[in-house]
Amino acid sequence: MPDRRLYVTDAIVLSRFDFGEADRILTLLTPGLGKIKAIAKGIRRPTSRIGGSLEPLAELRLQLARGRTFDVVTQVTMQHAWLGLRDRLEVTATAWYCAELVDRSLEERHAAEPLYLLLRRSYELLDARMAPGRVARWFEMRLCDELGVRPEVDRCVECGRLLEAGDAVRWIPLLGGVLCGSHPGPSQASAGLSTDALRVLKAYQRMDVEALAGLRLPAAVEVEVERVLGEFVRHVMERDTRSRRFLEEVRAGYGGGTSAMHAQAPAAGSAGVAAQAPAAGSAGVAGPAARPGAAS
Ligand SMILES: [Zn+2]
Repeated sequence: MPDRRLYVTDAIVLSRFDFGEADRILTLLTPGLGKIKAIAKGIRRPTSRIGGSLEPLAELRLQLARGRTFDVVTQVTMQHAWLGLRDRLEVTATAWYCAELVDRSLEERHAAEPLYLLLRRSYELLDARMAPGRVARWFEMRLCDELGVRPEVDRCVECGRLLEAGDAVRWIPLLGGVLCGSHPGPSQASAGLSTDALRVLKAYQRMDVEALAGLRLPAAVEVEVERVLGEFVRHVMERDTRSRRFLEEVRAGYGGGTSAMHAQAPAAGSAGVAAQAPAAGSAGVAGPAARPGAAS
């Protein structure tokens, strides 16, 4: 007789942390159940049958048993390993950044197939060596769309006037997008937005990802777009993300081409980031640690 507590789902590991003697608690993204918490019992023992394959940055097929607090992982099959996500630290950090944004966007157990497909697509693109910055910006814009908070880049958020090329505009995440020059806005300190950056923001809303991958953009414009879209996402998420700071530290300290094998993770004490550097020779990549209290 089949065990009715058991079910099977595709899943991507969003975060994980060690628990007890040998267990690990996972936050999983699934297409049908959305975000769920699960426990992998005994996974840190060398004899564990599931230990080697229950990895982040991969698409897994899991069998789980419904449990009282957490569902329990009973079987793991690797669907897509996306090994390219582990080649370079900037790619790995970008993948974790996307996962964390999804984690923070979802309540547990609300169906989230669009976000599952979005995260999976972003991992495919990173694995196919699309520039991580382009993938991240595309992901941020698509995530905002899915959450119903698409930034306004065509009309002034205050008066609704359709903006024309060359208009002086400011970028006000608090108001949801661009503000024309006719209004004082919430703060005089708010930065202007260049015409080029505005054009690229529109491109991220309108162009498909293959076309975005091929755009030739001045570095300064890429930096500006990263900054303003990051401000917008931070506003949406209400607070800074750990993995974004990790990514910034990676860029500042090690450069984009640094091999993950030689890079060090930020100290656990800095800004609460507890990401571990991947051990040399191991495919295991530990992401940002779970929030304190997540186990309770
Ligand atoms: Zn206006």
